[in-house]
Amino acid sequence: LTQLFRPLDMLGFVYRTIRQGLIDMAAMFKLIDTEVEVADAPGAPALVVTRPVVTFDDVVFGYEPDRTILHGLSFEVPAGGHYAIVGPSGAGKSTIARLLFRFYDPWSGRILIDGQDIRAVTQDSVRAAIGIVPQDSVLFNDTIGYNIAYGRDGAGHEDVVRAARDAAILPFVESLPQGFDTEVGERGLKLSGGEKQRVAIARTLVKDPPILLLDEATSALDSRTEEDILTTLHTVSEHRTSISIAHRLSTVADADRILVLEAGRLAESGRHGELLRKGGLYADMWARQQTENEALDEAAE
Ligand code: ATP
Repeated sequence: LTQLFRPLDMLGFVYRTIRQGLIDMAAMFKLIDTEVEVADAPGAPALVVTRPVVTFDDVVFGYEPDRTILHGLSFEVPAGGHYAIVGPSGAGKSTIARLLFRFYDPWSGRILIDGQDIRAVTQDSVRAAIGIVPQDSVLFNDTIGYNIAYGRDGAGHEDVVRAARDAAILPFVESLPQGFDTEVGERGLKLSGGEKQRVAIARTLVKDPPILLLDEATSALDSRTEEDILTTLHTVSEHRTSISIAHRLSTVADADRILVLEAGRLAESGRHGELLRKGGLYADMWARQQTENEALDEAAE
């Protein structure tokens, strides 16, 4: 039996460094069945990020040969910029995130981080540069400390404490009799949705990634908790480049720029106010959402 498990251990070792990213991506984009399709170029160097600029240059992509999903998409998120991607369901928002994380390569066009084509550097280095904050995180049946330290191999206690502080969960952890050694999940303490989300944010912050990819559909949380988490996310995004994939519009109003995607094309882009004045797709989506919210409020009364 030991012989049987040895290769599995090896696999575990090989995949450990990328597994967390995969788990979070899986949670974020329901990718659990997706095979990793790309390979490193022979002798590929690591990505070096000094200015975390993210560039999509005329990117064409589809999952199947006869169905194009992104039709020549171009945009650039400057270093330290906070961009949001919105658009109707199926427009290709999550696809952009998957391509940036290099689950797939574009059919044509290029994706660059700090001027380097992500196909020319190692996948590990690309994934190490991007922190993912999924809406629904997977925690291990282990201690809070382990769950946070998992974000980066070799993370020490100091790093874990700092990440927990930045994710605004340190006071909560310190209030527990066993602190970071508290077991969570089925074996231990059941965390609330908001606490789980904060542990996941801390896990991402332990990587100290220059780029954050946020899934802002925090709909599983009540609106007060959602607001608190968003405040934390805004704080931790401050010195980083961030891209929010927004399935709803309520969270994007203060983005530096909103990219409005429609059927794999950039329909319009700008700040919230500009887009409302323009009276295009974004203004329509906004108006529709307001009506829906009012209907929900009325139903709740
Ligand atoms: P939503 O807001 O509903 O999550 P989205 O804008 O994120 O939508 P994507 O998930 O990027 O949309 O999907 C874009 C298109 O690609 C959809 O039509 C979808 O059916 C298709 N698609 C997504 N994943 C795959 C896949 N693995 N294989 C084939 N087609 C896919």
